[in-house]
Amino acid sequence: MLKHKNFLIVLSSPSGAGKTSISRQLIKIDKQIALSISCTTRTIRKGEKEKKDYYFIKEKSFNEMITKDELLEYANVFGNLYGTPKNKVLALTIKNKDVLFDIDWQGFQQLKQNEFDVVGIFILPPSKKELARRLDKRGRDTKEEVVNRMKLAQSEISHFLEYDYIVVNDDLEKSVKNILSIIETERHKRDRLINLTKFIDKFRF
Ligand code: 5GP
Repeated sequence: MLKHKNFLIVLSSPSGAGKTSISRQLIKIDKQIALSISCTTRTIRKGEKEKKDYYFIKEKSFNEMITKDELLEYANVFGNLYGTPKNKVLALTIKNKDVLFDIDWQGFQQLKQNEFDVVGIFILPPSKKELARRLDKRGRDTKEEVVNRMKLAQSEISHFLEYDYIVVNDDLEKSVKNILSIIETERHKRDRLINLTKFIDKFRF
């Protein structure tokens, strides 16, 4: 059978567009997709788990990781530091996984600049009103934080044109289905197929 070279998938969106729920579904359904867990200096939220949602670390440790060149990419988002540990991604690619990143536009830019084989998918909320409703419903942020995130959503959205695919998340199931088909299609790209010439040779008479 034909195999593909593994690639990286970046999902970006403003907070409240449903990216976390989508990512969880993707890895549950497609076993060749594995989620990259980031490090962050932000405080842990209610319901979050160490190593499952993030590696929650102190700024000093984060800066040490930067100095030791242990991060694939990193950025300051909403005043906190977020970054992708290189060794974890490497471990996943060794296991033949297509690695999924829930990171912002700055991280996506860095991966592209470093010439990784990366597919960028931007998730949009259906409307501003719905975005505000979702942020409010979550209740995990303070009122001030919600207003701040609405403003930041605007600046995150302004980067949507840099992505390869745009998905409007008005229905979780439909969005997951669409993203799975994007990923499956990308796996069939000719340039990603391994041993294609050898495979085609079998059809010579
Ligand atoms: P939250 O604090 O709501 O979990 O995440 C805030 C933002 O940081 C989200 O847009 C998320 O995608 C982004 N983010 C999470 N991890 C990383 C990372 O490792 N690198 C970058 N560049 N952004 C990240």
